[in-house]
Amino acid sequence: MSNRLVVISAPSGTGKTTLCARLLQEIPELILSISTTTRAPRGQEKHGTEYFFVPKEDFRKKIDAGGFAEWAEVHGNFYGTTKDFVDQAFAAGKSLLLDIDVQGAEQLKNNYPGQTLRIFLAPPSMEELERRLRARGTDSEESIKKRLAAAAYEMAHQEHFDHVVVNDDLEHAYFQLAGIVLQSIRGQTVAQGKGGPKA
Ligand code: ADP
Ligand code: 5GP
Repeated sequence: MSNRLVVISAPSGTGKTTLCARLLQEIPELILSISTTTRAPRGQEKHGTEYFFVPKEDFRKKIDAGGFAEWAEVHGNFYGTTKDFVDQAFAAGKSLLLDIDVQGAEQLKNNYPGQTLRIFLAPPSMEELERRLRARGTDSEESIKKRLAAAAYEMAHQEHFDHVVVNDDLEHAYFQLAGIVLQSIRGQTVAQGKGGPKA
């Protein structure tokens, strides 16, 4: 078994949350990475659950001490994955699933070249992406427009990833995704079938 850093990127509304929740449920070697950030908690977010929330000064000190596996400034705040978090996961025999931006994904690939797996999850079309964003019912019209504009940019960069999975039929996309992750972690090919890729 190999320890991996599995980065999954997708335009907002593609289905990343849905598919990642299932990966975490069905692949026991995978745990969700908890990033450190300088942004303030939103809503019910708790320190140590969604993020480790820290002051900017502490974040800067950690950068200077070389404490991050990767870090980036996104929308005016700092976000990073600590080396300690990666080391502890690996020591426990786990792989990490990371929701980080493209700059962070690039740094991980450079810092952990043999262990980083980058997967791009794509919607079947921009029309379907727009339909999903509307059907989800969580975003304002303005937010949907912003997400669609960002999606066009993200789609144009998909060739930088190791794998591209199109989330058309959810079951099919899940088995493709799980197959890629399991092949990387366990060196095992998975046939689509009853019961799924359980341990
Ligand atoms: P993301 O995390 O990428 O923003 P979500 O997981 O929230 O996306 O999914 C966006 C919406 O699309 C949700 O309402 C979800 O139920 C739906 N969805 C996800 N995958 C599919 C699919 N393959 N076909 C149809 N609807 C989907
Ligand atoms: P949010 O503030 O909405 O939780 O996240 C904003 C952005 O920061 C998202 O694009 C998310 O992927 C990115 N992000 C979250 N954690 C990290 C991290 O540890 N490193 C990097 N590079 N990006 C992150």
